[in-house]
Amino acid sequence: MGETAWREISLSAIASNCRTIRAAVGTGTKIFACLKHDAYGCGAERAAAILADEGIDAFGVVSLADASAVRRGAPGKPILMYPGIGPWDVDLVRDLDLTISISGEEDLEGWVSTGRPLRAFVKVDIGLWRNGAAPSQIARLLEICAAHGNLVIDGLYAHLSEFGVAGSSAAEQFARLTILLDELARDGRLPETVMISSSDSLLSYPGMDMDAVDPGALVFGLTGPHHGRRNITVRPALKAIKARIIAIKQCDDSMGPPPALPGYRKDMRLAVLGIGWGQGIPRHLRPGMSALVKGKRVPIVPPAHLEHLRIDITGVPAAELGDEVLLLGSSGADRVTLTELAAAWDTDEVGVSCGLGGHLRRIYVA
Ligand SMILES: *Cc1c(COP(=O)(O)O)cnc(C)c1O
Repeated sequence: MGETAWREISLSAIASNCRTIRAAVGTGTKIFACLKHDAYGCGAERAAAILADEGIDAFGVVSLADASAVRRGAPGKPILMYPGIGPWDVDLVRDLDLTISISGEEDLEGWVSTGRPLRAFVKVDIGLWRNGAAPSQIARLLEICAAHGNLVIDGLYAHLSEFGVAGSSAAEQFARLTILLDELARDGRLPETVMISSSDSLLSYPGMDMDAVDPGALVFGLTGPHHGRRNITVRPALKAIKARIIAIKQCDDSMGPPPALPGYRKDMRLAVLGIGWGQGIPRHLRPGMSALVKGKRVPIVPPAHLEHLRIDITGVPAAELGDEVLLLGSSGADRVTLTELAAAWDTDEVGVSCGLGGHLRRIYVA
């Protein structure tokens, strides 16, 4: 297709991860697949379609672009908008049949004043210190909704603070929620669906499954090696990052004094790949990284350029123009794993998948 670079996304990995999560949570807990950031770089429309085929219950997204992609891929499924849109988007909310989030009195009043019939989830902040109303404000929000007929509250949810990072405060966060739920239940105001668990807590705290869960990274196999309590094994949907050799040359002195490039050697056979930091490769790659050509590891010669990346193919005489080179994936008996690539790029699996440029073409493979 004339492509110089592309990523391969495995739809069967997404489908099998979905089945794995379903098997873990059982049928009594709904799964809202979080497809934010264009489904973590995997393409929201195709991801939504395959997940709908697998019987996913609903979706969660932040942007309207992602919401409309999900709507195209999964026409009948509920879509929860995480905070990010406002009452000025009310026409699209109706056209795309979206469930909005309420995270404070000000935005609630804005939505109420549209006068349109709307379905909403209330978002509560139990320790992330980001979007969502404080637990102390929830009863008042529900009161305002009850006083206005146009806004129906279908659920209450929270996103836990990333407790994998700085020691677990999961129990404290959960305790804040439990107190709130008890109060709401006592007043007969408990919404039908309560949801707080996403990837990290799904792996570690089965007791937090509740009515629904909304994993994102886990659906796309981006959680990396984990030590969670639950035996949930997922596969990365991002299977390969490939680029073609678009130029080859035998370096010699007529080009001038040898450059101070890490890994440069005299008389090196240099190949240029049609991929660069514009497609999401880190601009300042650390020295010592490798790519796979014809099943062999070759050194990458940093830094990356906007649309170009150099590799040293001195050790692979058979390499030729147009060859596919892998930055991620399997070639012959060797393989660069996503975890290995994430470490080399100073990020994690989510960082690699979400950091690839939107115009790096996706090829879907089974
Ligand atoms: C990002 C996000 C998720 C999914 O988080 P993961 O850690 O990727 O599972 C769930 N809910 C909300 C509100 C989010 O913003």
